[in-house]
Amino acid sequence: RPPRSTLFPYTTLFRSCENSMQYNMWKEYTAPSPEEQLQKFRSLLKYVSANSPFYKQKFSQENVDIRSIKSLEDISTLPFTYKEELRDAYPLGLQAAPEEKIVRIHSSSGTTGKPVIIPYTQNDVDMWADMMKRCYELAGLTDQDRIQITPGYGLWTAGIGFQLGAEKLGAMAVPMGPGNTEKQLHMLMDLRCTAITSTSSYALLLAEEINRRGIRDRIHLKKGVIGSERWSRKMRTRIEEELGLESFDIYGLTEIYGPGIAQDCYLHDGLHYWSDLLYFEIIDPVTGEILPDGELGELVVTTLSKEGAPLIRYRTRDLTRIIPSHCNCGCPFPRIDRILGRTDDRIKIKGVNVYPGQIEDLTHRLDGVSSEYQLLLSRDGGKESMLFRVEVDNARDPCCRQMREKAIKKAFRDLIGISVDVECLNIGDLPRSEKKSKRVIDTRDS
Ligand code: ZN
Repeated sequence: RPPRSTLFPYTTLFRSCENSMQYNMWKEYTAPSPEEQLQKFRSLLKYVSANSPFYKQKFSQENVDIRSIKSLEDISTLPFTYKEELRDAYPLGLQAAPEEKIVRIHSSSGTTGKPVIIPYTQNDVDMWADMMKRCYELAGLTDQDRIQITPGYGLWTAGIGFQLGAEKLGAMAVPMGPGNTEKQLHMLMDLRCTAITSTSSYALLLAEEINRRGIRDRIHLKKGVIGSERWSRKMRTRIEEELGLESFDIYGLTEIYGPGIAQDCYLHDGLHYWSDLLYFEIIDPVTGEILPDGELGELVVTTLSKEGAPLIRYRTRDLTRIIPSHCNCGCPFPRIDRILGRTDDRIKIKGVNVYPGQIEDLTHRLDGVSSEYQLLLSRDGGKESMLFRVEVDNARDPCCRQMREKAIKKAFRDLIGISVDVECLNIGDLPRSEKKSKRVIDTRDS
């Protein structure tokens, strides 16, 4: 596979001196060995068998004998846990610790059906705070920073998670919550906040407002910890340029603590995850088989130390890969790739599963190829065909266009494993639409 280019070589070079000092802190940490992980996994199985009514029932229904788990490979024999099951456990069926140990709940907003309620013990809250603190440290933040927190508080995990980590770090948290842009801007200016935590769409909204008002020189932000939605690289670059900050991609989900279970470091080449507290697997979303490191698939998470509502092999439906190599930043924890989409977005082409996030990733790796594309799927007789139309630089030059078409075809073969027809267009030729779904036009069944 081609070498992965660093996202922001300029900011990386610029900040590497400052960061090398801050990254000495990782000397305190070591990532657990496979034996240590196995030991934690086995203790977890004992814990849930004794304390979790949810897993007691699930294990007896599915004939699980936890004594048969003797190696990390044996974990593949354990059943997955699905979001639907968590919903069915509403309201407190997941609770695995006695009432006096539970200190709070959080809940994922269910757009359809019942929400999922996750109970937390004090220990869970402390672990979560520690993970969030590590995330801030990956971003190079210290107790000298002032962090404006814009995601929502309440049942949702985001706001309070960012707050917990900021306090644990010793930084000054500015707990704004969402909305009220007027007040947000005043706080950013008057308190001279150095970091912001936000969703990508809200960061973009703030950036636009700051530029519209011409107050950029009164904003002192250096870092942005941004998460909770999948964002394109293009959006990320815009946020960085317009807010004048370095952004960090934080990942998490309410079912597993909340935000902060993984984040990128200043090298921006994948997200470190906390393997001492979480066990990550990548599986084929269709067959459920575990995939080797480096291969794209669905992320499955096991919480190794959670008490309130531990989860075993939870299917996140998020698409990523484990990055096999060690990161040069000094952080000993392993990495996953940024989230490339949801497993539900799958398109099946010529018997191969393709995800829109993979295509975006592919265009980003190629020089002179923009992220504006269209994918036309059609069937001619029994034969499926796929035309990839994409805007490229210098498309008017026939020689240049031919070269790019060849490179794109090769990338599809090498990275996704399918052959496609490619048509290179001038920048601006494709219709601009807000909805990404319009990019895939599938006429195979019509
Ligand atoms: Zn790193």
